[in-house]
Amino acid sequence: MAAGRHIPRLLRQTRRGLGGRPAVGIHRRSLASAASAKPATTFEQGDEHDGPSPDAAADRGFDDGEASTAAADDEETTARLLEADRRHVLHPYTSMTDPLPTFPVRSARGVHIELRDGSTVVDGMSSWWAAVHGYRHPVLDAAVREQVEESMSHVMFGGITHAPAVGLCARLLRMVNGDVDCLELGDWEAAEEGGHASDEHPESYLEELDLDRMQNYQLTKVFLSDSGSVSVEVAMKMALQYWHTTGEGRKTTFLSLRNGYHGDTLGAMSVCDPVGGMHSMFAGVLAQQAFVPSPAGPTVEDADDTLRAMDAALAERSEEIAAVILEPIVQGAGGMRFYHPKLLRGARELCDRHDVLLIFDEIATGFGRTGTMFAGWQDGRSYRPWSSLDGRNLAEGESAASGDTDESNEGESIVYPDIVCLGKALTGGYMTMGATITNDRVARGISDGGGVFMHGPTFMANPLACATALASTGLLLRSPWRRRVRDVEAALVEHMSPLAGLDDVVEEVRVLGAIGVCQLREPLCRDGMAVVQRRLVEEGVWLRPFGRLVYTMPPFNCDELDEGHIRKIGEAVYKILSSVRCERK
Ligand code: PMP
Repeated sequence: MAAGRHIPRLLRQTRRGLGGRPAVGIHRRSLASAASAKPATTFEQGDEHDGPSPDAAADRGFDDGEASTAAADDEETTARLLEADRRHVLHPYTSMTDPLPTFPVRSARGVHIELRDGSTVVDGMSSWWAAVHGYRHPVLDAAVREQVEESMSHVMFGGITHAPAVGLCARLLRMVNGDVDCLELGDWEAAEEGGHASDEHPESYLEELDLDRMQNYQLTKVFLSDSGSVSVEVAMKMALQYWHTTGEGRKTTFLSLRNGYHGDTLGAMSVCDPVGGMHSMFAGVLAQQAFVPSPAGPTVEDADDTLRAMDAALAERSEEIAAVILEPIVQGAGGMRFYHPKLLRGARELCDRHDVLLIFDEIATGFGRTGTMFAGWQDGRSYRPWSSLDGRNLAEGESAASGDTDESNEGESIVYPDIVCLGKALTGGYMTMGATITNDRVARGISDGGGVFMHGPTFMANPLACATALASTGLLLRSPWRRRVRDVEAALVEHMSPLAGLDDVVEEVRVLGAIGVCQLREPLCRDGMAVVQRRLVEEGVWLRPFGRLVYTMPPFNCDELDEGHIRKIGEAVYKILSSVRCERK
């Protein structure tokens, strides 16, 4: 490395101090192998990724003549698709008139996404946390087909109910209340072979429901909606309506953590990070909420600092605060930051003391991603983030995720919020759906005097989404998902830790459960993001870097996923960040 540190061209030119703690404890062996490895380049490198290679057509089984005609036709269609897309189709967080490039996808299966040129990329994003089982899982495919063919795709939920909705709500209540040990792992092989494990079918699931058992649950009521953001809106409205109906109408403010992210609708946006979020752009429109600093790092002491700030804020403003809302353990889109679970228990105690409701946004973290079924179940025993800054390396021995066996009795350390929001992996990434789950206190507060809860989306409890979610949660519960998360975690540590060696570009590498984060010293500029994305695709990997983060949360409950896929992701990022270093001014 050159003595003077230069800012790579692809990083934004807002130089801040580059001093940082030196990375220690990285795998020198992995570093060497990553540096010398020759990752498979899946198509010819050129300036633009704009069409299929002849090789790709040949791989799909055409002979030479047919292949060139079919490839040419396909190339034309792809070019038209991309042009129409660029001109008329809006994509997330990009210019309406000069958008970032898009990659045309033909299909996805298992842990791979196939592009229209026939090349494939390993999916490192699970379609933004959602596709935990990978793509086109036979059990989920079957659930969708059966629901469409045997029952219905949709029917309104006002005044109507159906087995997929009731089955799913019951399943979710069992899960969020830690009553999952009553589910048998034994049907896993049947599910693996592509059949429906018996009680994943909504009708059979209902037959086995134990309503007496459910009477003792803490969380008791489920509201099914369209998406994660809407489930947050619903949670906020529940809290507001609760205080309004119980005579505390002044309690209309939400207390949130800095660096949080809770969605893109107006209410959800108001509780996102007030600086990194969209507050400045929507100033005067968004409700003014209260914020406390999020934990500076992953330790107990960091959590204590935030708890002290939360205590002070609640002591000062509890008369106007309706609820505390936070993402348990992992702050996702606001920075991919990890924090100690002590904060959750502490927040519960503070909310009780100051008579404020507590909302957990488990939209990204729910359904196993962090190593426990829900991140709110993490405790000091299960929570073991790996960070290149202190060099703690779980790959060399320590067990990472909670419990050592698949039978470990989760639920013992549950911190119950008053309201929990779910989404993303709820349907295994098959379709959009959110769930907001609350307790009797909130329900009775809103409705004991005759009040009705004021929300009712057109696609509420969409039967297709419900049946898929029931199949997806059943699949998860029957699979050895804890072991799989631990394996992914160990592989992420193994194959991402070499990135810490690129310490003029990389500030920190951290891993928790099936989440791997490489935090850069400087944010990627617009062009940098496009170039890094394209090079990742050329290396056969799908990631979506943003700002200072190149991160991965691959499908973890996917039969096909093995260590080689994680290695490929780590090596691709290493190769690209190494070359970014070389492109100095
Ligand atoms: N909360 C969290 C923690 C999220 O990560 C997201 C999505 N990134 C949302 C809420 C919003 O979910 P959706 O995009 O489904 O509206």
